[in-house]
Amino acid sequence: MKVNQVELVISAVKPAQYPEDFLPEFALAGRSNVGKSSFINRMIQRKSMARISSKPGKTQTLNFYKIEEKLYFVDVPGYGFAKVSKKEREAWGKMIETYLTTREQLRACMLIVDLRHPPTEDDAMMYHFLKHYEIPAIVIATKADKIPKGKWQQHLKVVKETLDFDPEDDIVVFSSETGQGKDEAWKIIQKRMKS
Ligand code: GDP
Repeated sequence: MKVNQVELVISAVKPAQYPEDFLPEFALAGRSNVGKSSFINRMIQRKSMARISSKPGKTQTLNFYKIEEKLYFVDVPGYGFAKVSKKEREAWGKMIETYLTTREQLRACMLIVDLRHPPTEDDAMMYHFLKHYEIPAIVIATKADKIPKGKWQQHLKVVKETLDFDPEDDIVVFSSETGQGKDEAWKIIQKRMKS
């Protein structure tokens, strides 16, 4: 999809602030610094619409990006950042959980992981959370440009095994640096918009 129009509609901290226009929504989750902002920016062809994190874990809001008046990307704060307090982590959990488990227009959650390394415990926990609530997942294995193409399949296998990946979900090898996987990711999103 060629994206011309993107608008950050709201940075919400509570459900009353969520948009009310019933467009399909796609949440984006990932560990801090995994490359989530870069993924969003590459998908919407903007250099820095989603903030590339200088202070990981800082944004504690749900950011609703409206794309082409057709759908929303909902950027959720990165997880697994050691420096946030227990209290902040709990608040994070509650906000995300409420959104992910109650939002009718949520079509899927994209989970951003690093193709180079096996998913962390936090990654696996996030994925299993989605499975538990029967939320369709689109796993984005990013930073593919950092390993040779010949090794992608091998790494993808490790990602799938570590997550106990459900074949009903989608998984995409991605690079925000080269744009690898962008068309495939958009195709999946467009397919899931109709479901
Ligand atoms: P976030 O905290 O998950 O939003 O992560 P960022 O998007 O801020 O990315 C963290 C760091 O990884 C930044 O220095 C990015 O430039 C880098 N990065 C993100 N995606 C890629 C990628 O696909 N390839 C490479 N080589 N670097 C990436």
